[in-house]
Amino acid sequence: MRPVYSNTHLSNCQILFDSFFRFCYTFFKISFEFGDLMKKLMICIVLIALLLTGCSVSEPEEADLYAMDTLMKIKIWGEHEDLVLVTDEIHRLDLLLSAADSGSLLSQINLSGSAELSGDILTLTQDALSLSEKTGGAFDPTVYPLVRLWGFPDDAYHVPTQEELDETLPLVGTEHIHMDGSSITLDKGTMLDFGAIAKGYAAQQCVNLLEENGVEAALLSLGGNVQTLGTKPDGTAWNIGIADPDNPSQAIAQLSFFGSKALVTSGGYQRFFEFNGVSYHHILDPKTGMPADQTLASVTILCDNGEVADAYSTALFVMGLEEATEFWKTQNDFDAVFIMKDRTIYATEGCAELLSGCEFTVIKR
Ligand code: ADP
Ligand code: MG
Repeated sequence: MRPVYSNTHLSNCQILFDSFFRFCYTFFKISFEFGDLMKKLMICIVLIALLLTGCSVSEPEEADLYAMDTLMKIKIWGEHEDLVLVTDEIHRLDLLLSAADSGSLLSQINLSGSAELSGDILTLTQDALSLSEKTGGAFDPTVYPLVRLWGFPDDAYHVPTQEELDETLPLVGTEHIHMDGSSITLDKGTMLDFGAIAKGYAAQQCVNLLEENGVEAALLSLGGNVQTLGTKPDGTAWNIGIADPDNPSQAIAQLSFFGSKALVTSGGYQRFFEFNGVSYHHILDPKTGMPADQTLASVTILCDNGEVADAYSTALFVMGLEEATEFWKTQNDFDAVFIMKDRTIYATEGCAELLSGCEFTVIKR
C-alpha cells in the first residue's frame, strides 16, 4: 500500500495573511474616521500576535503506510520530499529484511547458508551479534527455525511437541553464525531473523536521513516502535502513549519528553494465537523454544537509539521482570516500563519522572 499524503499548511497561511491585510485596511479606515484609536490599536496588536503564532507553527507532512507487517504513521515538520525519503527507505528495508518473504535478500542468505554481506545486512548482522552477546542471548537473531516451527510467519499456527522443539533448538544460537570479515556462513538449518530489530533499525535510519536533510522535527510510529526527532515546533513535549495490553488501541499510560528518542514496546498481545484455551505469543525464549515469560504483558524501552531499543524490548521481555531489572542496573543507555499481566506497572528511575496516567512502582539502581 502506498502512503497517503496531505499538504495544507501553505494555503492556510496564505488565507490568514490575506484576511489580515483586509482587516488592517478596514481597521485604519474606521479608526481615522471615528477615533478611539488606542482601543483599536490594542485589538490589532493582539490579532497580529495570534496571526504570527498561527503561521510559525506549520502543519506536518503526514503519511500512513503498511510495511514490515504493521501499520505505520509518519509525521514530518519539513518538506514533502522528506516524507517521500522516509517512506521509500522503509519500503526498501522491508524488501531486504523480511525472513518470511522468499524474495528478500535475507531469505536468499538463509536459503544458501553463506554470502558476502554488505550495507544494511552487514550492519544488522554485526549489531545483532553484539546485542545478543550483551543480553546474554535473550535477544537471538537465529531464532527463525523456532518461529517457523510455531507457524508465525504464515499464520499456520502449531503448538510443537517437545520432540519437535528438541530437534529445532540445536539450530538456534549465535555460535552457528560464522563471520570472516564480511563473509557469513550459517550452520546447516540455522536461519537469521531480524524481526525483533528491523523496525527499530528502519526508524533510526529514517531519523538519521531526516537529520542529514536538516529536518528539525518528526514523529515516526512504526507499529510498536516510536521514534521522535527534535522538538515539536509548538515547543510542547512529545506525549507518547503506552498501549494497554488488554486493549491495545487505548493507552494505559503516557511518557512525556523532549528531544530525539526511541520508545519501543514489545508485548505478547502484539501477535498470538490460542489453542485449547491457552494463549501462545510470538516472542520466544531461545533457551526453551517456548513463548517467553508469561507474567509480563509488555516491556517499553526509552533509549537514544531505535535499533538498540528494539533489541532490548524483545530481550527484556524474554528475561522477565527480575532479570531485566538486574540487566538495567548494569547498563546506563536506556530506561524501561514493565506492564505485568495483572496490570501492575514498574518503571525504572529515568522513565518514572516522565510517566503519567497510571500508578506504578519505581525501580531504583
Ligand atoms: P514486534 O515485531 O511485534 O514489534 P519484537 O520486536 O519483540 O516485536 O519482535 C518479535 C519478532 O522477533 C518475532 O516475530 C520473531 O520474528 C522474532 N523473535 C522472537 N523471539 C525472539 C528473540 N528471543 N530474539 C530475537 N528475535 C526474536
Ligand atoms: Mg524488538
